[in-house]
Amino acid sequence: MPISKKEVISIAIILLISLSGLALTLFTLNVWDVTQKGILFNVDVPKLPAEYKPIANHTVVVLIDGLRYDTALRIAKEGKGILSTIYNEGAWFEKVETVFPSISPVVRASALTATLPEIHGYTGYGVENYNLSLNLDFNVFKLAGERGYTTAIIADPLAGGEFWKWVDEVIENKWLLDEEVHNLFINLIEKGDLPNLIYVCYVDTDTAGHKYGGISSEYYNTALNASIFIEEDFEKFYNATNGDAIFIVFSDHGHTDKGGHGGTEREVMHSFLGFIGKNVIKAHIYEEIKIYQIGATVSFILGIPLPKYSILPPIFDAFNTSAERVAGYKIHFAHLKINQIRGLAEEIGRLSDVEGRISELNSTLSEAYKAYGDGNYTLAESLADGIIQEAVIIFNKLLSSAIFNKILIKVGIVALLIGLTSILLAVIGKRYNILYSIAGGSALYLISLILFIILFLAVGESFSMSGRPIFSSLIIGIISGLIAYLFILYLSKSGRISEIKPHVAIPIATLAGFLVQLSLFIISGIISIEPLEIQYAFTGIVLEIVSVGIIIGYGISLILANKFFTK
Ligand SMILES: [Zn+2]
Repeated sequence: MPISKKEVISIAIILLISLSGLALTLFTLNVWDVTQKGILFNVDVPKLPAEYKPIANHTVVVLIDGLRYDTALRIAKEGKGILSTIYNEGAWFEKVETVFPSISPVVRASALTATLPEIHGYTGYGVENYNLSLNLDFNVFKLAGERGYTTAIIADPLAGGEFWKWVDEVIENKWLLDEEVHNLFINLIEKGDLPNLIYVCYVDTDTAGHKYGGISSEYYNTALNASIFIEEDFEKFYNATNGDAIFIVFSDHGHTDKGGHGGTEREVMHSFLGFIGKNVIKAHIYEEIKIYQIGATVSFILGIPLPKYSILPPIFDAFNTSAERVAGYKIHFAHLKINQIRGLAEEIGRLSDVEGRISELNSTLSEAYKAYGDGNYTLAESLADGIIQEAVIIFNKLLSSAIFNKILIKVGIVALLIGLTSILLAVIGKRYNILYSIAGGSALYLISLILFIILFLAVGESFSMSGRPIFSSLIIGIISGLIAYLFILYLSKSGRISEIKPHVAIPIATLAGFLVQLSLFIISGIISIEPLEIQYAFTGIVLEIVSVGIIIGYGISLILANKFFTK
């Protein structure tokens, strides 16, 4: 039986809608970043070349959630609170970049494991009640605990949810107002017996950013208050420990002028970081720092091994410490990096490509260890620097290719699914003689999806950050459906698409599109068992609810149209 021109057009339209499904899938995965998969691999963590005492016996990591760098600078220059104290007496970093996606749980995971989201693989929410079993056992709390140091997380359900397994005490695993956090912390200090490593979060600045925007006076005032609270925390803590403490104060991301974060805008990516306390030098540091160097720096302060996936070395320049310690940690990092190269290359089957380079680096490493053993720390340090420079480049190349392979596999699977679904729809459509209807309806479904994407972008963060987007998705779907229906009604009344029976085509096509989307997301969620992927599947389900909304919208429109527009 020959295929008519109509049928060719129908099949082309079905293919088009399916391809748009692919585009939408990739778009959605890209928003939540398809590259953010945990690429975990084996790494032998070398021993430190010597035992090191902590630079300070207490390290307090304080997060001011969502603080923009320019706001931090303004508060510092106006002479208010801890920001001003750090600016004038501590180590202040001018150029600190956070990670993408620039959202709270991701940055916490990166900062405290010293690695990239692409490696730790955690890029979503949902950890708050300890209900995601994350594999983040390469974090600073665990390493500190192994050395016998005590640890605590205060008032941060994201960090608490990520790291509770490796922390001695999670105090108040919920969001508190800054004033409550401050009071809680002061009580803790007054009680005495302070943990060696404490992480505490002040979240109100982020809340104000979302509500009023990153250049609002409300946002500024909230950040200012946090700065003043933390100043008092620091003074009390410093006195209680007889000056044996370092405060690391940082922000996980900034805010756009309108309020919001998650993307790569400059004002969002530019984070605040500063150190103050024992053996911290007074300096403004212009070197480019990445937010995940905090984790490696905590190790350096405590005198413990670096987290095994550390991407960059600790920030050495901020401390008054011995050349021996710096050389020792540089060798340790160089050795770790070589082991990372080996582990990652093995994981992606490219060990033979890098084996030569590894043995070259290893021979320089032996020289560095020897120089260190001889007490020639200057030589040891410069040898280690050489290794680090080269090894970081090799490692990053391997990592890029590992990420690329992951994306390629995903695109391949999605394309295959789309191809199969297109064929299935075309065959069914031809068999029951509704091919053209399906194609017409599919085109409508495409329009609805495009409208949905526009709405998705328009509502932006309030959609992605609300945590319970099902209801709003349904509303968006219904609105999309109504708009698309009005469009078909116009085309149909003006005689341009008379062959399409909208009341048959639309529900069938929408349902078909619904099934395509649902299967794509669920399957991609199930294929990889990482928590992140399950989040993708969840996002997929939300999109499906939108599709159902579209059907409801069509239905309502049809009833109304029949009532009011028929002659
Ligand atoms: Zn936020």
